[in-house]
Amino acid sequence: MVWATGDLQNPAEVLHESVLKKWTLAQQSNKPVFLIDSADIQNKTVTVNKKFNTFQFKCTTPDFVFAVSNHYLWQARDMVVDSVTMRKALISTAFNPIHKDFFEVNDFTAKTIEVMSFDFPGVAYPYSHLTVVDGRDQMEYPMMINDNPTTTRFDGITLTTHEVFHQIFPFMMATNQTKYAFMDEGWATIGEWYISPIIDSTIVDDYGMDRINSDLGKDWDTPMITNSTELTKSLFINSYPKPALTFLYLWEMMGDSLFKKSLQHYIITWMDKSPTPWDFFFSMNQSCGMNLNWFWKAWYFEQGYPDLGIIGINRLNYSYTVTIKSIGNKPVPVHLTATFADGTKRKFTRTVDIWKNRNITDVIIDTQQSITKLELGDVYDADVDKNNNVLVPKE
Ligand SMILES: [Zn+2]
Repeated sequence: MVWATGDLQNPAEVLHESVLKKWTLAQQSNKPVFLIDSADIQNKTVTVNKKFNTFQFKCTTPDFVFAVSNHYLWQARDMVVDSVTMRKALISTAFNPIHKDFFEVNDFTAKTIEVMSFDFPGVAYPYSHLTVVDGRDQMEYPMMINDNPTTTRFDGITLTTHEVFHQIFPFMMATNQTKYAFMDEGWATIGEWYISPIIDSTIVDDYGMDRINSDLGKDWDTPMITNSTELTKSLFINSYPKPALTFLYLWEMMGDSLFKKSLQHYIITWMDKSPTPWDFFFSMNQSCGMNLNWFWKAWYFEQGYPDLGIIGINRLNYSYTVTIKSIGNKPVPVHLTATFADGTKRKFTRTVDIWKNRNITDVIIDTQQSITKLELGDVYDADVDKNNNVLVPKE
């Protein structure tokens, strides 16, 4: 069988009639159907019995890829990707049956496409199909993905959500992957972080924040705007976790609805037009109605690091004033957890815009109890020095 970017133009000429029948069936099924099962392979009833078969594909995507196998199973299902036009896409997987994890990949893929089309970013999947092929890589192509088998469900889910998200970034947008890796890898990373726990709620996926924190601000840690063609030591953090973290901070600051609306505006305005980073920054500024240049400048154009610290605490009757400083130049949100004498906890949040015009802020905590501990930071809060994140007040 041959799978490829684009639509097969001559299925009746190349597919065995039993596979052709199942293919038609899959196009009306919202559950995965085996188009090629082990019996088809054994009985040689996959393609028509000719010495040569020519598969013809038609596509309008910016790139083309194909896969060939004489022993892979093929599973496919159909799903609506646009609730207005009711347009559908065929979600298909081709894999070696010895790779047991791949029996679930069709479900992971369909769930990812559903979230992408209707929730985040909330833009209809652009193509007529998507085929995930069991290969030896972790690589995205238009309408196709080449993914290695995985040994854990965690890896299977996070790998699938990441590579599927690439269908929008870069392919729908046609951004330059080589030069501006953050413009697709950053989104694929946040897509992976957001969608994987929807598929399996036990997943906490953060790319190892401890290691990221220890890399941030090193002398080799260049600004994110550095062309990814430079292959610097910071290529990984600049392409994947750093941009994803900045998108998360903006998401929290704008709130769910405005962030998604702004992102949709960028996608719809710039799709197929090869936006540069500057187009992205200006488009987001325009669509959210805020000038975020202070944020883009600090995170994308400057060297430096994020570091928040608790620098003071004052008690007056039933009120504490906790002073927090942004010691680093990269703005991160404040997530302050206070523990009280009775063991209860309360969390105080200041979104990232708190640092737009200042580097010191106060958090007022009204309580009749004593505070026994203060701690800064959440899973995704980048911070190079955690020593100043905890304060145990002296009584
Ligand atoms: Zn990627």
